[in-house]
Amino acid sequence: MWGMIATWRMALEGIQKVTPNLEVGGTAGDAIEGAIKEVEDFPYFKSVGYGGLPNEEMEVELDAAYLDGSTFDFGAVCALKQFANPISVARALSAYKVNNVLVGDGAAAFAKAHHFEEKDMLTDRAKIHFHNRLKDIEREQLTPYAGHDTVGMVGLDASGDMVAGTSTSGLFMKKPGRVGDSPFIGSGLYVDSTIGGATATGLGEDLMKGVISYEIVRLMKEGLSPQKACEKAVSDLAERLKRTRGEAGDISVVAMNAKGDFGAASNIENFSFVVVTSTLAPTVFRVHPQSDGTMRHELATKEWLEAYLEERMKPLEVKE
Ligand code: ASP
Repeated sequence: MWGMIATWRMALEGIQKVTPNLEVGGTAGDAIEGAIKEVEDFPYFKSVGYGGLPNEEMEVELDAAYLDGSTFDFGAVCALKQFANPISVARALSAYKVNNVLVGDGAAAFAKAHHFEEKDMLTDRAKIHFHNRLKDIEREQLTPYAGHDTVGMVGLDASGDMVAGTSTSGLFMKKPGRVGDSPFIGSGLYVDSTIGGATATGLGEDLMKGVISYEIVRLMKEGLSPQKACEKAVSDLAERLKRTRGEAGDISVVAMNAKGDFGAASNIENFSFVVVTSTLAPTVFRVHPQSDGTMRHELATKEWLEAYLEERMKPLEVKE
């Protein structure tokens, strides 16, 4: 058995690209890095890599992490600027015994010393989004913290090794130096090849409060299926946050266990995920939370898939 699961429809092309290799015995590590790089390189996904939306100083600061569920090798970069593929830098850091998590200038110095591709990650399109958001805030008093979609993936290869990875530009118009859950082991991602793995997307400040990816793996270890573990982790955290803080931010998660069974859950209506296994071609599902805390997974239609890309690629008007 082998497989991969990822947050959001944007992971589809990346997963399609690496599937043939995974199918013939490729490693989960190569699959995760390869698929996430594909998402990072695509300029129209405005929450990951090139074309990612900037912070309030109009700088693109990227977070990424890589965790090997067999060796527990872990690497992460936080607030990395001007490098094309944060996931590859994170993977390279995972090979060391210490200095596995680097931030800002330290992360950039490592990336430079190891000859990772330097790139201006701020696109003209991202500048228009920035400009338009400023106009909206002026006019409508919108909160700047909207518009986020981290790519997170869990992979299982034919040898039984599992790897998880994340990559994000974080929250649009965040404070310089702000880091969410995505690069943090246990919060944005967790994987143990003997059990399974999970990864999260949503409001990082809230996801971290539940260390939600670890929690899902812990629940799977207790015997819950990936689907039940995702549902329980999301509803427990959302309830806990609502009870004591009055509200819960967006919480969306995916998981796969060591047998290739998978699950996904969310407390919002528009979450989607991509999955491939030895018995299922790369497929996009939309997640619909039900009132009893369970989820309905709907196969994404061709129309929905096309509309998604069209929406992301349509020409942008500059607001006056
Ligand atoms: N979790 C990410 C963060 O808080 C955002 C996202 O999932 O899009 O940085």
